[in-house]
Amino acid sequence: MTDCLFCRIVAGEIPATVVTETETTLAFRDIDPKAPTHVLVIPKEHHREIGDVEPQLAGEILATAHQVAKSEGIDASGYRLVFNTGEDGGQTVFHVHCHVLGGRGLSWPPG
Ligand code: AMP
Ligand code: ZN
Repeated sequence: MTDCLFCRIVAGEIPATVVTETETTLAFRDIDPKAPTHVLVIPKEHHREIGDVEPQLAGEILATAHQVAKSEGIDASGYRLVFNTGEDGGQTVFHVHCHVLGGRGLSWPPG
C-alpha cells in the first residue's frame, strides 16, 4: 500500500532506525518514544490490525518482539507488548504494529 506509512518504511522510502528484521517482520525505533526502549515490530506485509493477522504471522511478530526485548536488555527487568487496536484502542497508524516498551517501571492501568 503506497499510502501506508509503515509499508513505506518497509520499502525503504521513509527512513527508520531498524533494530532487527526477519523474513516476515521488521523492528524499528518509535519516532516519539514513550519509554527508554520503545520499538515497533510490524509484519512486512500490510495488515490493518492484529485481528487480520494469521496465527503463524502473529507468532512471528511476538517472537521478534521477544528477540528485541532480549537484544535491548529488558527481558529480565520486564517489558510490555501492546497492540493498540481501533479507535478506542488508540491506534493511529493502520498497519498492525506491536509496541515493545521497557527500561522503566510502567504504570497500570493505562490511561
Ligand atoms: P499507534 O498509536 O499504536 O497506532 O502507534 C503508532 C506509533 O507510530 C506511535 O507511537 C508513533 O510515535 C509511531 N510513529 C509514527 N510515525 C513514525 C515513523 N515515521 N517512524 C517511527 N515511528 C513512527
Ligand atoms: Zn502498510
